Amino acid sequence: MNIFHFLKPFSYDEVPAYSKESFKTYFMHADKVMIYLSAIQWFIATFLSSIMYDTYLYGFISGGVLTFSLVLAYRFIAGTGAMRSLVAIVMMLFSLIFIQQHLGRIEMHFHVFIAMAILSLYKDTLPILVAALTTIVHHLIFNYLQFYEISLFDMPVMIFNYGCGLDIVAFHALFVIAEMIVLAYMVTLQLAHSIESHKQAKEVVGLSKKLHYSSMHDSLTGLPNRQNLYENLQLITANANRHKDKFALLFLDLDKFKHINDTLGHDVGDELLKVIAIRLKSILRENDIVARIGGDEFIIILSDIKSEQSILECISKILELFKKEIVVKGKILKSSTSIGCAIYPDDSKDVNTLMKYADMAMYSAKDSGKNGFKFFTKSLDDTLHNEVNMIKDIQRALNEGEFKLYYQAKVDVASQKIVGAEALIRWEHKTKGVIYPNSFIPIAESSSLILELGRFVINEAARFIKKMELLGLNDINISINISTIQTKDIELYHDLQNALQKNEIQAKNFSIEITESVMAEDTLLAAELLHKIQKLGINIYLDDFGTGYSSLQYLQKFPIDALKIDKSFVDEIKVDSDKNLILLNTILLMGQSLEIKTIAEGVEEEYQLEYLKKKNCDFFQGYLVSKAIREDEFIELLKLQS
Ligand code: C2E
Ligand code: CA
Ligand code: CA
Repeated sequence: MNIFHFLKPFSYDEVPAYSKESFKTYFMHADKVMIYLSAIQWFIATFLSSIMYDTYLYGFISGGVLTFSLVLAYRFIAGTGAMRSLVAIVMMLFSLIFIQQHLGRIEMHFHVFIAMAILSLYKDTLPILVAALTTIVHHLIFNYLQFYEISLFDMPVMIFNYGCGLDIVAFHALFVIAEMIVLAYMVTLQLAHSIESHKQAKEVVGLSKKLHYSSMHDSLTGLPNRQNLYENLQLITANANRHKDKFALLFLDLDKFKHINDTLGHDVGDELLKVIAIRLKSILRENDIVARIGGDEFIIILSDIKSEQSILECISKILELFKKEIVVKGKILKSSTSIGCAIYPDDSKDVNTLMKYADMAMYSAKDSGKNGFKFFTKSLDDTLHNEVNMIKDIQRALNEGEFKLYYQAKVDVASQKIVGAEALIRWEHKTKGVIYPNSFIPIAESSSLILELGRFVINEAARFIKKMELLGLNDINISINISTIQTKDIELYHDLQNALQKNEIQAKNFSIEITESVMAEDTLLAAELLHKIQKLGINIYLDDFGTGYSSLQYLQKFPIDALKIDKSFVDEIKVDSDKNLILLNTILLMGQSLEIKTIAEGVEEEYQLEYLKKKNCDFFQGYLVSKAIREDEFIELLKLQS
């Protein structure tokens, strides 16, 4: 235990933001308790004290005014600091009534008790200060009134003539009992509340664990997903290297799955996938892995293989398993699969290449009539030459200016105003037409070309921001996508800095989008680079959030300004479904409690937007408002709204 904890008696844990709302509820409840307390005082001032003294009317009127002012205020400002201050004032003024009713002794008691009640119930310094001030002021005023012998309700104003007798002692006892009861009640309230907020804190931690689990598993079949597979492969290759073992990577793709989906519906398709997942798991050994990496694509890792024969045995078991009929919703289904196989380290020592090879082998199995398997061979590698050609073509296109940035509007959920855009690259190929990034970015990433392409994107976006600033569009934020490979190079920082300086643009209009893999790979370096970039004034968004590691730790450690919530979460929002979207809600809550903005991606439907609005998501993008469009079209879109 850290010794400094003892030296800092006033450093309490802060209330987490997601509990603030329930704290307000708690305060409102406390206000109510105080109103009851006030009513009790009123009763004492009116009836009890009038048994002994003839001050009935005075107690009734002034106590009533005080109590009703609280009841009235509660309707408008319950739960606020102002309400607490008013409670303090009213409570302290009650003592005036008691003084007038010859109960000066009790008055002292009263001040101490009220201060304790306020501290205990509200844990707030403001009402205590207000209470102290009220006391000083009313003592001063009454002192003077007494001095000049002014009377009130036909009674001389008094303040220091504390009486003494049986009546005072009896009242005193009554007060002590009432105080005990009220304070005890307050303490039980507090206990219950702190248990509640502790429970909430635990729930959020639990949810974020769940989020992590679900980001590593396929929600339909519960199998490991692609992310998970990659992590496992790191371990498996390390092990294989150490023990000089081999392993086989099988790529499975169901035959005609699309046909089943289209004719029998997605429900049936989903059920079929679930059954297949269970069956695949049942025939594998404990150390083997089966993962679902896409719609109807599975990958199986057969570790520690002794010979080609053992792979063949396993493959034939898989093909055999598909021959068994599957009954889904009363329908008898038959399905089959095509399998491609690549072997580590014989075919490649690089995991990505190995997957690609197994994929190629699978396609070759499909080509030769489906429901079969193929091993990867070098001749399949021809397709690889296409990639080499593509790389050359990308280089050419860069020189000839065929790459363009398109812009997809980023919209404020509450005001529906366009506040910026995401720059998405397009290749306007001179013969092939428009090519989308998914088919060339991965290839550019396999060579150093991605750095050159990345630099082009930075400069091009900066130029566009300048253009907009010159048109008077000063508050439009443009975000660009940054490949993980770019973040391993300090040049990224210099490129961004240069782009800001050369174009003389405001950094607040520039953002970068990175994915969680940046943080996972080299935490220290990445954190330093990102902090430097943020110092430039550039915003940092975390792209595709929820699909990767989704670690709460990363969010706390790295300078992230906004989370981009992946489209797959937005897709889960369906019409009229009151299904609890627990993961989406958790992400939004996490963003809110860490004060990180949230941007939902891929919003296509009005009801999805309605939902996001209800859950206080900050921004959204999607076809509902606009696809990625050319820069002049985007400027037109902006002009339309101003
Ligand atoms: P991303 O960053 O997740 O971009 C979102 C993708 O979703 C874009 O596809 C966008 O056009 C698409 N999209 C946006 N709204 C909707 C919607 O409502 N419905 C549907 N169905 N789709 C929507 P795009 O432009 O094909 O980009 C694909 C990926 O390519 C991007 O994913 C990003 O990772 C990468 N990329 C794009 N431009 C660049 C770039 O300049 N540099 C790098 N390194 N990567 C880029
Ligand atoms: Ca993006
Ligand atoms: Ca994204």
